[in-house]
Amino acid sequence: MPRIDLKKMVIRGVTVAVVEAPLAVPFRIATGQHNSLKNIFIKLELTSGIKGFGEAAIATHITGETVAVTERNLREAAAVSPGEDIADYRAFLEAFREKFSGNHAALAAWEMAVLDAWTRSLGMPLWKLFGETPSALCSDITIVIGSLEEAAAAARLYARQGFATFKVKVGRDVDLDMARVLAIKKAAPSAGIILDANQGFSAETMLKFLKCLRSGKVHPLLIEQPVPRDDWEGLKKVTRLAGTLVCADESVGSLADAARAIRIKAVSAVNVKLMKSGILEGAAIARAARGAGMELMIGAMMESSLAITASAHVACGMGCFRFIDLDTTYFLRGPLARSPYLDSKGGFDLSAARAGIGVTPRL
Ligand SMILES: [Mg+2]
Repeated sequence: MPRIDLKKMVIRGVTVAVVEAPLAVPFRIATGQHNSLKNIFIKLELTSGIKGFGEAAIATHITGETVAVTERNLREAAAVSPGEDIADYRAFLEAFREKFSGNHAALAAWEMAVLDAWTRSLGMPLWKLFGETPSALCSDITIVIGSLEEAAAAARLYARQGFATFKVKVGRDVDLDMARVLAIKKAAPSAGIILDANQGFSAETMLKFLKCLRSGKVHPLLIEQPVPRDDWEGLKKVTRLAGTLVCADESVGSLADAARAIRIKAVSAVNVKLMKSGILEGAAIARAARGAGMELMIGAMMESSLAITASAHVACGMGCFRFIDLDTTYFLRGPLARSPYLDSKGGFDLSAARAGIGVTPRL
């Protein structure tokens, strides 16, 4: 570990702000939709003048967490933090473990701000906390639930823009979903396809769906969360019979969930999201799943440029994520939509990030 000047790691204050931004396109999935972004930002300032930033992206229709509770928890944590030292960030964060145990979006924001300030203090990019060598990342782009025409138009647009992989949201209407995937394949024949059912199917429906797709010459690279989160038997069955990678998203939010998925061989891949598990536990889930031979995806809720870039740092440093699903900023408008390290076709280049996350929101 680099040498740390303890005097420079003392918290002067923490600011919490709720930030709203319009979406360019409503983000529709099987369990609900986002029409706008309402995230919570925090700014943690050290007595050295160095600041760290964190963002909580709350997805109530997925996690049940709310903006109100997340804001309250972060404000309470902020109130007791001045004078505390983050030099030993693990010890500092451990003290808040209980507070954020049922509110992982708040945990992610809190850890993000602390780790941002910590790495900024040392003049190192955040990714270096997770690995020696930065790996290149290329995100897929999501085609949300919608009409047949919307799906085909999105596929044409994204293919022209240069995206190589589409993540197609399914799970609400089997017949329409089938027609949408086939239309997407026709509109962009060379694009890789990932399916995300967001718990919307049964194992039998998912397997039938895949069979029909195969007869239409569509071979998904991966299918994500085909069945409800607690349907472990269903997950196992799809994994056994799908003939492609099956990824747990909603089923795995903690290290304990990941251990269960590994133990019973429920899936062949896991989607790690900072908002589900926080940053440190997210990294631990990735290590455990990879250690068990699973493939990894890094995903997101409705993060803006700050949290999406923080996620990219984790994947860039760890280097073990085969599937990158960090596309949410393409669905936003305004300054929060711009990550300085993300190009127009999903490529992240974090080599220009000199210290911390490298994104400074206006708060
Ligand atoms: Mg998912």
